[in-house]
Amino acid sequence: MELDRQLIRLAASPDDKEAAIRQVGQLLVDTGHIQPGYIESMLEREEVANTYLGKGISIPHGVPKDRDLINRTGISVAQVPDGVTWNPGETAHLIVGIAAKTDEHLDVLRRLTRVLGNQELVQELIHTDDPSDIIEALTGERPVAPEEEALPDFDQGFDIVVRNRTGLHARPATFFVQLAKEFDADIRVRHGEDVGVGKSLMSILQLGVESGARIHVSADGPDAEEALTALKQAIESGLGEGEEEEVPEPAAAPALDYSWVPEQVRLTVDGVPASPGLAVGPVRQYATQDLVVEDDPASPAVEGEKLQNALDEAKAELDELYEKVKSRLGADQASIFQAHAEFLDDAELVQKTVKLIYQGHSAAWAWQTIIDERVERLKNLDDPTLAGRAVDLRDVGQRVLRHILGVEGVSTVAVDHPFILVADDLTPSDTAALDPDAILGFCTTGGGPTSHTAIIARSMGIPAVVGADADAREISDDTLGIIDGYNGRLYVDPSEADVEEARSLKQSLQVEQDAARASRFEQAVTTDGHRVEVAANINRAKDIGQAVDAGAEGVGLMRTEFLFLERDAAPSEDEQYQVYREMVEALEGRPLIIRTLDIGGDKEIPYLNLPEEQNPFLGIRGIRLCLEYPELFKPQLRAIYRAAAHGPVQIMFPMVATLEDLQRARAVAEEVREALGAEPIPIGIMVEVPSAVVMADEFAREVDFFSIGTNDLTQYVLAMDRVHPKLAKQADALHPAVLRMVDATVRAAEQEGVWVGVCGGVAADPKGAVILTGLGVSELSVNVPSVPAVKAQIRTYSLEHMREIAQRALECRTAREVRELV
Ligand code: PEP
Ligand code: MG
Repeated sequence: MELDRQLIRLAASPDDKEAAIRQVGQLLVDTGHIQPGYIESMLEREEVANTYLGKGISIPHGVPKDRDLINRTGISVAQVPDGVTWNPGETAHLIVGIAAKTDEHLDVLRRLTRVLGNQELVQELIHTDDPSDIIEALTGERPVAPEEEALPDFDQGFDIVVRNRTGLHARPATFFVQLAKEFDADIRVRHGEDVGVGKSLMSILQLGVESGARIHVSADGPDAEEALTALKQAIESGLGEGEEEEVPEPAAAPALDYSWVPEQVRLTVDGVPASPGLAVGPVRQYATQDLVVEDDPASPAVEGEKLQNALDEAKAELDELYEKVKSRLGADQASIFQAHAEFLDDAELVQKTVKLIYQGHSAAWAWQTIIDERVERLKNLDDPTLAGRAVDLRDVGQRVLRHILGVEGVSTVAVDHPFILVADDLTPSDTAALDPDAILGFCTTGGGPTSHTAIIARSMGIPAVVGADADAREISDDTLGIIDGYNGRLYVDPSEADVEEARSLKQSLQVEQDAARASRFEQAVTTDGHRVEVAANINRAKDIGQAVDAGAEGVGLMRTEFLFLERDAAPSEDEQYQVYREMVEALEGRPLIIRTLDIGGDKEIPYLNLPEEQNPFLGIRGIRLCLEYPELFKPQLRAIYRAAAHGPVQIMFPMVATLEDLQRARAVAEEVREALGAEPIPIGIMVEVPSAVVMADEFAREVDFFSIGTNDLTQYVLAMDRVHPKLAKQADALHPAVLRMVDATVRAAEQEGVWVGVCGGVAADPKGAVILTGLGVSELSVNVPSVPAVKAQIRTYSLEHMREIAQRALECRTAREVRELV
């Protein structure tokens, strides 16, 4: 006999016996087993007979005369964990409604009596959250989990590689879905084995499409062809994600030096710096609104209407929020609310909720159940960005739930005076609801430097610390705190003297920042007359204007892979030549170091279809890849040599680990140069692999310069993945092990008269700039916003003093000891 999930209602809480009978009856009505009149018949039976079987089970059924109201035999089950009084002294927890046309139900009854004899099983069924357990107990067969129907592709379609940095995450997926909805045609997207519905955001997100993945988009319908053309073009041009979406330089905090730590605090909360700045003020804990969801449904029609109204209200609210945030923080920050609104339009999400409502659940319970299930599924995707979108779904889920329950959205923080907000993590809606004037800083126990909180904090220009120790949540409201967004700390209950100091430090940091900006075009010369060159790291030609305006004296690292990343095929030699030439000209005589393609590791080129590697950071990346693909390497070298005719250009090879690599790369460059009849130009290498440091004396004989890539060097020396969220705090380039590597490189280079620069993130760290200069590095190439501060920093020290600090740093035992030196 059939008993499927639709006939089972878990966690029901009927007010009384009659309500319970009506619920099991309704399940049979909804599934077409009986006509509504049979429910009355079931109630009538209770007048004349006791249907309580014992051990918490009852079996309501109609009186025999009403058998003609039964369309086909069936049973339904309501599980009532809290129980409902059946008769005085008898409480039912499992209510099995029976509509038997003949005696097919006897088998079920037999099984029921067996269940009755097994108290443990009864308890299990009363509390299980898996309907299959009940089905198995009553029918003897465990249903196989309903296979999500695998959709086939449509005939017409195209293959394409998704090259958005974070794959098809919320924003590009929203863009795709919105565009798909403009057409009548049905759209499907295949990723590997999985096929999603092109007009459903949930469905697209669940495909878990990462950057570099190949998908197949197909369509069927009158305007299928137009739809496919439009979608293809949209994917090619980045699905609405502008260039500003790209990875910022690591540690883009403008460098400002201070070694201040308070003297006397009750507690220091450690975290990860997410937005620079310093602020003093009372702490305020962010409390999330707890919504209580009960499953006490009115009729499906009423519940359905509740859901529809809530969806409409939430949608209107999100439109309003979008406008509000757009005018405050710009369209980019606001677009997340468009993605939220898209969830509300998701047919799959709404349909599944409605289905549960028709199975006899309240709108609130049904919505919550479906959202929870989806959130779990997103969280389990093997992709941190998509898993992070679970926060968005939970956020929009709460918004709708609030409307279903008719609960006002309350601001959970009073805004009488500005405060440092402490939270687990903040959803986009949380932050949008906050008054920016009232927030001095954010400290969250969850999230990372790329979390929503961090992004918003940076765009609001206020300090933020994320991934903080859990005890941050224990601090009581109004306790005084100092938040240090530069170093990722929250100090609790500082002494009065500390507060005074922090306030004046904040002021002087501001003054320093202004002064650094004002003197950005002056050279970075130490108090004893030693000049350090400060250059910029850039990723594309258009960054040059900003770099020059920030006072950069050249480009110490041009990451050419960005030219290759944003497209479906490699840029031609001519295209590259135009870009390099444009840069040379914009630099007006300042030097330009062009690094040849550094692909592999964390940077992929989708169209190369490179085999997946077990350990990409240790695989075919950087120069190894160039040597493997001369069809990429040679045109790039040709373009560089041609651009060099217009100004001072130098070539730099990345990821050089062996002398053979260098010699082979040099040989290719030489062959290209000779063929072009071009002048020789300086050639250097990135020193970022430990073997290059150990063999630096040998390398120094064969190159014109070294530029130390501390980002990679740190990861390889400490064996700590540079993109590992948990290792971020420890993978410190100021670790003495890394500094000793820098020292060894500089000493080897000096022997051969080769200059050494540093282009890793630590060059922009105020302490880093001092120590590296003290170790003998002569060029610091830093992210553009840090240029003025790094120059200003150098000007405040003598070379002699920096050398002393550097020598002491080499003798330190930990990164912390090093940091305390400056
Ligand atoms: C480095 O490794 O330090 C570096 C500057 O190169 P990238 O960050 O591009 O790997
Ligand atoms: Mg590197």
